[in-house]
Amino acid sequence: METDTSKPPILTLQNIGYSYHSLQGETLALSDISFQVAEGEFIAIVGPSGCGKSTLLSIIARLIEPENGTIIIQNPDGSIHYPHIGYMLQKDYLFEWRSVYDNVILGLELNKKKTKENLDYVNTMLKEYGLYEFKNKKPSELSGGMKQRAALIRTLALKPQILLLDEPFSALDYQTRLQVSGDIGEIIHQSKITAILVTHDLSEAISLADKVFILSSRPATIKKELPILLTKKSDSLIASRNAPEFASYFNELWEALSNEK
Ligand code: ADP
Ligand code: MG
Repeated sequence: METDTSKPPILTLQNIGYSYHSLQGETLALSDISFQVAEGEFIAIVGPSGCGKSTLLSIIARLIEPENGTIIIQNPDGSIHYPHIGYMLQKDYLFEWRSVYDNVILGLELNKKKTKENLDYVNTMLKEYGLYEFKNKKPSELSGGMKQRAALIRTLALKPQILLLDEPFSALDYQTRLQVSGDIGEIIHQSKITAILVTHDLSEAISLADKVFILSSRPATIKKELPILLTKKSDSLIASRNAPEFASYFNELWEALSNEK
């Protein structure tokens, strides 16, 4: 498997396998998944519906234990703790009975990390990402895109080392989705956080990620690993989509996936 030699991996998955067991029987979800994630890298994972993408994220988040294989951690500072994981889902899960501000500090509150430094960080993000004026509103008063930004700020407030995003934009209409994925992509690139995004949208994967993994249909295996290098004039999503290499990456992903459903 190809590896990025410029940055050391912080996370290595080796031969990961997983099955769900229920009264109806066994569902093999993942088979022999191996890959590395370098610090600061933005990975996108695409694959047919039901192939095992969310299962893979749950394993990385340590919500479930793999049945086979190993996960190796190499923190840049040499420490051996599992990287702190932030998880963002399709639904924003903001609580309507709390203000936007009380929602974004919820993680800090639950983890007893409401320090001045962390609250300052939240305020900086609220200002930078256009939500500061809305901090006393209720979530229902925000647009879909603003809600997703608020959910992201809540996740980033805990300073995760790895951010997992499970189809975070798929509940949004197309126009909003373009806007929000661009905004969120920029926030992630600026904060240089390591990110793993699961998406159905090939254009989104190409325009946001440094590398795309294509999964086969269930049980998911890694079918292809495609490093993305776009010649672009700016960091914007539109510049990515206008890059001369975009169409050939799209075709390559499309072809790999169309043999799969
Ligand atoms: P994806 O996110 O790629 O759509 P998932 O990882 O959610 O796929 O699911 C992979 C397979 O495992 C699917 O066939 C799904 O039905 C099955 N599955 C997911 N969660 C469970 C569960 N808790 N119990 C049994 N089967 C499950
Ligand atoms: Mg899923």
